[in-house]
Amino acid sequence: MNRAKCCRCNLNQRSIALVNTENNVVNSSATSPPAFNWDEWYRSVGGRSIQIKEADEILKQIREYQYPRFTGEVNHEQVVFDNDALAARAVKQKAFDLGADEAGIAEIEPGDIYKGRQVSEKYAIVVGQRMLWRKFQEVPSHDSAVECLRVYFTLGEVVIRLADYIRSLGYACTVEHPIGDSDVLHIPLALKAGFGELGRHGSIIHPKMGPMFRLGSVITNMPLQTDSPIDAGIAAFCDKCRACRIYCPANAIPDQRSPEAGKDHLGNDRYKVDTGKCFPYFAKHNYCSICLPVCVYQHKEWAKDFEGFTTKLFPDVKMKDAPVPTDPSIPKHWYPKNKRD
Ligand code: SF4
Ligand code: SF4
Repeated sequence: MNRAKCCRCNLNQRSIALVNTENNVVNSSATSPPAFNWDEWYRSVGGRSIQIKEADEILKQIREYQYPRFTGEVNHEQVVFDNDALAARAVKQKAFDLGADEAGIAEIEPGDIYKGRQVSEKYAIVVGQRMLWRKFQEVPSHDSAVECLRVYFTLGEVVIRLADYIRSLGYACTVEHPIGDSDVLHIPLALKAGFGELGRHGSIIHPKMGPMFRLGSVITNMPLQTDSPIDAGIAAFCDKCRACRIYCPANAIPDQRSPEAGKDHLGNDRYKVDTGKCFPYFAKHNYCSICLPVCVYQHKEWAKDFEGFTTKLFPDVKMKDAPVPTDPSIPKHWYPKNKRD
């Protein structure tokens, strides 16, 4: 790579391309879902009822320590890489150095943007970080709830510091925090970036990490080579396996794929999780998460949790009676007109 002068005054071929893409504003598609409105969701189930001191403390840290660090100054001197593949490699390596367990790059399309939002960046650098299996020995539980929040924070640090790095290279970018009110949908971007396949439970299953990881993104116009989706046979396996459906206490995970729910990146009809059934349970039972550790797509080496902790091969699952589903006519989630059985 070589260091060029400021892109504003040194219009070589690459910097001209950058200026052009910077002017592009991409709007959401007609079928984009609305962004999650957490306050509306909680209002619909009578307010927030989970009281976990550690989780509240992490949320406070995200608000007070991380949110103010979303923005920063862009270096006037721009680093120009010899080609987009080298640029992509450098950015992904930085993500791994900062603590990501997976990183990939996808071009942002209208369907990746929440309804009514727009972005002016062309690429998403998607990062993932795994959650610790040993914290999901019993679900739902205090430990599993805190672990979800812990990774929102630590992965938040990865995206914030990755954004700092990209700005230090002379490129503007935007932080799309894993917990946050983001403009882009992390899941379709991660599928395009080669993270794995969409499981019956609505989460991505990574060939090595399984489904127990969180996602965040940094979006930018820095020219980057994109990754490709993968077909590792996981979606086909889901068609035979129904473990998450059997263990879902809210009966929110479907038996069949739904043609009206659109296609996944392999062209399969999607499985449509009934979020109006899931959320009331999630909101009252420590963010539930049962469908993740019961997913059979776990590597049994996790019984040593990678760091020597001996754990069980399958969690203790506590299934309580499901609350009443939220009103499906309130347009606060992806599929407001879910057919219920
Ligand atoms: S989080 Fe719980 S309620 Fe929601 S889909 Fe998963 S298992 Fe079902
Ligand atoms: S438990 Fe089985 S059906 Fe459900 S997501 Fe995992 S592999 Fe697919």
